[in-house]
Amino acid sequence: MSKTMLVVDDSATMRKIITRTIRKAGLPVADEILEAGDGNEALQKIEGKPVDIILCDINMPGMGGLDFVKKARTNEANKNTKIVMISTESAEGLIASVKADGADGYVTKPFTPETIQKELAPYLQ
Ligand SMILES: [Mg+2]
Repeated sequence: MSKTMLVVDDSATMRKIITRTIRKAGLPVADEILEAGDGNEALQKIEGKPVDIILCDINMPGMGGLDFVKKARTNEANKNTKIVMISTESAEGLIASVKADGADGYVTKPFTPETIQKELAPYLQ
């Protein structure tokens, strides 16, 4: 069955690139991919309606990805949601700390369709 997905990035262009990449990779994602421009908007989108998987940028005005992960994980309703960070940040310490806060995976930008496919495939069975 196809999974529901939310893409969080302050750049509308980047959201488009990500969703297009997912479509091209042929991953089993629902027809409607939800989008949000920052962490606050993302929390609103999943309120009362958790999604299966979230792809989340880190650097965003308003609520960034690091705060979003912490907030999302405090809500029981999202405990089964997979959260994959997608960011230009590549410091190992940062990646380890966001994973400790509850992120399941991490993709660095720029990414290739293969990277996205490899990172997401295990969550889209
Ligand atoms: Mg950004």
